[in-house]
Amino acid sequence: MLSQTLGFVSKDMAIDLGTANTLVYVPGRGIVLDEPSVVAVTQARDGERKVIAVGREAKTMLGRTPSKIETIQPLRDGVIADFAAAEEMIKHFIRLVQRRSLFSSPRVMICVPASATPVERRAVHEAGLSAGARRVYLIEEPVAAAIGAGLPITETRGSMIVDIGGGTTDIAVLSMGDVIYSHSIRTAGNAMDEAIVNYVRFKHHLLIGSASAEAVKKEQGSALAKTNGERVTIHMKGRDLQRGFPTEIELEPHDIAEALSLPIQQIVGGIRQALADVPPELVADLCDSGIYLTGGGALLERLDVRLAQETGVKFKIAEDPLRCVARGTGTVLEQLDTMAHLLIKP
Ligand code: ADP
Ligand code: MG
Repeated sequence: MLSQTLGFVSKDMAIDLGTANTLVYVPGRGIVLDEPSVVAVTQARDGERKVIAVGREAKTMLGRTPSKIETIQPLRDGVIADFAAAEEMIKHFIRLVQRRSLFSSPRVMICVPASATPVERRAVHEAGLSAGARRVYLIEEPVAAAIGAGLPITETRGSMIVDIGGGTTDIAVLSMGDVIYSHSIRTAGNAMDEAIVNYVRFKHHLLIGSASAEAVKKEQGSALAKTNGERVTIHMKGRDLQRGFPTEIELEPHDIAEALSLPIQQIVGGIRQALADVPPELVADLCDSGIYLTGGGALLERLDVRLAQETGVKFKIAEDPLRCVARGTGTVLEQLDTMAHLLIKP
C-alpha cells in the first residue's frame, strides 16, 4: 500500500499494438497514451539506426523527411514487420507511461490478431520482453475488442466483431469466451486512403499524399453518397501530373464515396464469407443482436448503413471504436484472476 502511494510499484499496462495507433491502458487509470505507431530513424555513420522520434512527432515526418531520415511503421498487416523498430517503439511508450514512477519492470498485456501465426505471436512476446517488460501476456485481439465493446462473450449466444483498423479488417465470431471463427483481410483504413489517392490520380491527374487522403476520408468521406441533394465542395491540393506544378481540384462527397467503393466492397466480401462459414445457429444469433464494428474504420460515415444494406444484417458501432481493443485488453489485465482463461497459452 505504502509502496503504491509512493509510486514504487511497477505500473502494469495493457498495450494495443495497432498498425496505425498504439494505445496504453493502465489499470485504475484507463487509457494514458494514444500515439501513431510510427518510428523515425536516421542512419548513423557506423551504419547503426538511431531513433529520432516516435509516435505523433514521427507521424508528421511521414512523406516529408530528407533522404537520411526514414519513417517506419513497425507493424504491417497487424503483425510485426520490423522487429527492432517495434521494440524501440514499445520501449519508448513504456518509458513515457512510467515517467512518474521509479523504474521497475512492468507486467505487460499485449493483444495479437487472431490470425497471427505462432511465430508472429512469439515475436510480439519477445518484443515486449526486450522492451523491458517483466512478463508479457498475450490475448487475441477480437476477444479484447469484444470485451471493450461490452459484448457478452461468455454466453453461448454468438457475437460477431468486425474491427477495421489501418492495415487489416479482422472479422471474428465469439461464443462462450472463445474465438469460433476468425479471418483477416488486408483491406482497411490504409487501403481506403490509397483508393482516394488513386481516384484523384486517374480521374484528375493530381498526385496527393496519403496523409491528405486520410484527412479527407475522416472529414468528408462517406460509405454512401448522401441522396438529400446536399452539396459540399472538397478542395484537394497536390501536384498536377501533366504540368508538374502544385494545383487544386474540387470534388464532391459522392466522388469520395465512389473512390471508397472498392475497399468497402472487399470488406463486405469478407463479412459475407464469414456469414457463410459460421454455423447457422450462430448466424441466427448475429441477426438478432447485430454485428459490432470496432477500430477507426468504424467511424467512416454511414459505413454501418452500407454494410447492413449489403449483408442484410444490422450493424452497430461500438462506443469509442478506436479504443475498444485497448479498453478490453486493460479489462482483462485488471481482472486477471477471473479472466486468465482468455490468455493465449504460451
Ligand atoms: P489499428 O488498430 O490498425 O492501429 P485503428 O483502429 O487505430 O487501427 O484505426 C486506424 C484507422 O482508422 C486509420 O486508417 C484511420 O484513417 C481510420 N479512421 C480514424 N478515424 C476515422 C474516421 N472518422 N473515418 C474514417 N476512418 C477513420
Ligand atoms: Mg486495432
